[in-house]
Amino acid sequence: MENRRADEVWKAALGELELQVTKPYYETYLRDTTGLKLDGKQFTIGVPNAFGVEWLRLRMRSRIEEVLSGLIRSAITAHFTVRQDDQGTTLVPSRGVPEYDVAEPDPDESPGQDIQAPCLNGKYTFGNLVVGQFNQMAHAAARSVAENPGQRYNPLFLYSGFGLGKTHLLQAIGHMALAARCEVLYVSAEQFTNDLVEAGRDRSYQQFREKYRSVDLLLVDDIQFISGKQQTQEGFYHTFNYLHNANKQIVMAGDCHPSQLPVMDPRLVSRFEGGLMADISPPCLENRVEILRAKAAQQEAHVPEDVLELIARQTSGSIRKLEGAINRVIVFAIAAGVDLTLAIAAEALATAPSDTNRNLTSDTIIERTATYFDLSSVDLKGKGRQKKLVMARDITIFLLREELRLSPMRIGALLGDRTPTGVAISCRKVAGRLTTNEVLRSDLSLIRDSIYSRASAI
Ligand code: ADP
Ligand code: MG
Repeated sequence: MENRRADEVWKAALGELELQVTKPYYETYLRDTTGLKLDGKQFTIGVPNAFGVEWLRLRMRSRIEEVLSGLIRSAITAHFTVRQDDQGTTLVPSRGVPEYDVAEPDPDESPGQDIQAPCLNGKYTFGNLVVGQFNQMAHAAARSVAENPGQRYNPLFLYSGFGLGKTHLLQAIGHMALAARCEVLYVSAEQFTNDLVEAGRDRSYQQFREKYRSVDLLLVDDIQFISGKQQTQEGFYHTFNYLHNANKQIVMAGDCHPSQLPVMDPRLVSRFEGGLMADISPPCLENRVEILRAKAAQQEAHVPEDVLELIARQTSGSIRKLEGAINRVIVFAIAAGVDLTLAIAAEALATAPSDTNRNLTSDTIIERTATYFDLSSVDLKGKGRQKKLVMARDITIFLLREELRLSPMRIGALLGDRTPTGVAISCRKVAGRLTTNEVLRSDLSLIRDSIYSRASAI
């Protein structure tokens, strides 16, 4: 029983941690962890490998303890252990398997048992997607493409801010096409880039081509990742043309309209714009309530209407945040062993740790990067060209773009009137070096830690 509770509490904690740390950290170190045991004030977390245990212990322990203590309302000590494969039933291999069983309202849309769903998450189906004014057009286009791949709307380009359902829609298309026996490939643009780099290094272009050109449906997520990466864009251009000419369907998702993607080959932009573009906006209050109702039903949790409305009123913006909030409220009541009432929900929401991402400002990024390099914000905004200064400035620019998604124009204005082109060059420089430069990776990781820690600790 305690183990089940540990698992539930940990799922809610993960929902909160996901909002607090950057995506690569979450994906690498947190996503595949499980809540193993809650014994008094001792909470044991199962981690897939020893490296992860070390990393979490050193870098995340206090944050995790803070989140758990908030949920359980008692000062919790976290322990990390390498999980044995036979230790529990909730162990989830990396991608491709549902994280937990959810009701499938529309069984014919969920991935069939006999059909391999490589890289698709079982819960991202059309059946689990709430449709409202905010995503109506994107949903209609996605449905149409899933039903008739390659025939209409090719390519389809979906765009929106973070956590509004792009990945969910892409994968829902994938599931549906897969059920109709199409060859489907879902990749992030980052994965595409890595595959291309690897093919170049190992001279295995043939393999690369086979992987990308043999499909009926190519789904590329987070396409903004290839901004400023000339060679990747070149590779993608050829893959795109090949598939498009063969009437194969291409669907992409990005964080902005194609024309707004910085440093993008105009040939690609015009290819993207030659299809259908559909955006998703943040849901209105009524739709937020509906989404929360669906999330509660998926967990088979009874959440009163007034509680749904309270959460919806207090949580705007992304659907990911809505999920985090409702999980917190549900687990809060379970942990306290009481019925879920308006008062309990209000308390759960009031004691939620602040969403550091939301509170993160450009000033924090500029100041903490400057401090890390032993410089001042004024230096970063100035015209100096010493090597260390230029590097610190490039990294600041990169972080402003990655963490806050600011436009190159805005970043230029924040850093002493630099041009958007100059800003894009800096981003490209850092992104390019990241793949090979260990020291840079470590610098970035330490600066990010400092940015996201409440006490400015370096
Ligand atoms: P994005 O790719 O735009 O950042 P995701 O697709 O990852 O967003 O969605 C974030 C979370 O919100 C996911 O868990 C997803 O299942 C959920 N979600 C998004 N849109 C909807 C929706 N319309 N109905 C129900 N859940 C949704
Ligand atoms: Mg996404």
